[in-house]
Amino acid sequence: MKIAVIGAGPAGLYFSLLAKKRDPSHRIQVFEQNPAGATYGWGVVFSDVGLAFLREADPEFFRTFVAHHERCDYMEIVHRGTHVQVHGNHFSRTSRIDMLKVLEDACRAQGISIEHGRRIEDVSKLASEVDLVVAADGGNSAVRTQFAHHFRPSFEKRRNKFAWYGTRQRFHPVSLIFRETPHGVFIAHSYQYSPELSTFLVEVDPDTWRRAGLDRASEEESRRYCAEVFRPELGGNELLTNRSLWFEANIVRNDQWSYRNIVLLGDALRTVHFSLGSGTRMAMQDAIALSEGVASHPGDLPAAFAAFEAQRRPASSSFQAAAARSLDWYENVAAKMHLDPVAFAYDYMRRTGQVSHDDLRRRDPHFAAACEAMACHERTDTPATA
Ligand SMILES: Cc1cc2nc3c(=O)[nH]c(=O)nc-3n(C[C@H](O)[C@H](O)[C@H](O)COP(=O)(O)OP(=O)(O)OC[C@H]3O[C@@H](n4cnc5c(N)ncnc54)[C@H](O)[C@@H]3O)c2cc1C
Repeated sequence: MKIAVIGAGPAGLYFSLLAKKRDPSHRIQVFEQNPAGATYGWGVVFSDVGLAFLREADPEFFRTFVAHHERCDYMEIVHRGTHVQVHGNHFSRTSRIDMLKVLEDACRAQGISIEHGRRIEDVSKLASEVDLVVAADGGNSAVRTQFAHHFRPSFEKRRNKFAWYGTRQRFHPVSLIFRETPHGVFIAHSYQYSPELSTFLVEVDPDTWRRAGLDRASEEESRRYCAEVFRPELGGNELLTNRSLWFEANIVRNDQWSYRNIVLLGDALRTVHFSLGSGTRMAMQDAIALSEGVASHPGDLPAAFAAFEAQRRPASSSFQAAAARSLDWYENVAAKMHLDPVAFAYDYMRRTGQVSHDDLRRRDPHFAAACEAMACHERTDTPATA
């Protein structure tokens, strides 16, 4: 098959790699609008569950993929300056740019052509020249917009403001830092992703953001402000910027996932809460499912798309629902700030309704015992199981 892939993000590249490995006769060309080596963002993080999918899909590539990851098996919730550790939460981190390079190198080694600096403007023309177009063109997908009448996308803009920063302060565990200021609550999602650097994503509700004057602040002024809010955790290190502008989460869904010989993949298809890198994981799981659909139904795109959708739609919807509950928790965190650090951490761990008290006991008996001693599990309003 002749396959055109729009977008050299994790979805497009991983799909290309798996599809070509499954059927080396495919001729795959990836088009990427950005020049080689250009990327936004800092690190990406995978839970052990996310990694298990990648290991199973391609054990050989998996070894290369994780070779330079930073790992840690606990996380920290920092509230009122107290660091509460919760063990049994395995996270593997890497820089986005390194991850894309590993993917690109693996694709090229399989004979996949990647053309950088080439933006696809007319997907209809491209679709008429190839057998399959994979639109892995990200959250602002132009392909989805061009055929919006068919894909019928919906958008849900969430209220909190976010800015992605980096820092040389090394946050070895994934660390969620909550800080009460005279203007309101600021949250930092931070984790080390290379020997020198950590991601530092700042989240704040719009009222606090305005009261703090951040609606009128430049990128540099915002950076300095946020660094001072989190000075106790940053120590002598500064926040680093890379197009670190304030933005809101825009949750995307699509009624239809494919149109003629065009299929949406990754963020173009659906976005989830990005604070813990689940967007990257979901994009790569999409790639696995689409490559399997194509391999299982040679020459039959409608059947391949149906198999892809049957596998991914339920998982996608349930993940989006859990992510929405997590977003709700963050958006209403001010009402939780009175909790003492252990009770607060407990409430955080159970925010999606997908982690039960027994799950926590299995993961970290010491933490569960501390919560039981304080009767946290009787006090929170989070559902017991989901
Ligand atoms: C500002 C920002 C920062 C982020 N930072 C992080 C982070 O640090 N950690 C993390 O885990 N997640 C981060 N995310 C989320 C994460 O990037 C996505 O969930 C994940 O990358 C989805 O993968 P994808 O391949 O579907 O899309 P993307 O990674 O967005 O890749 C899509 C690619 O398509 C290209 N493209 C778009 N249109 C065209 C076109 N017409 N022609 C050719 N090429 C095109 C784009 O340049 C891009 O390279 C960030 C998101 C945003 C918006």
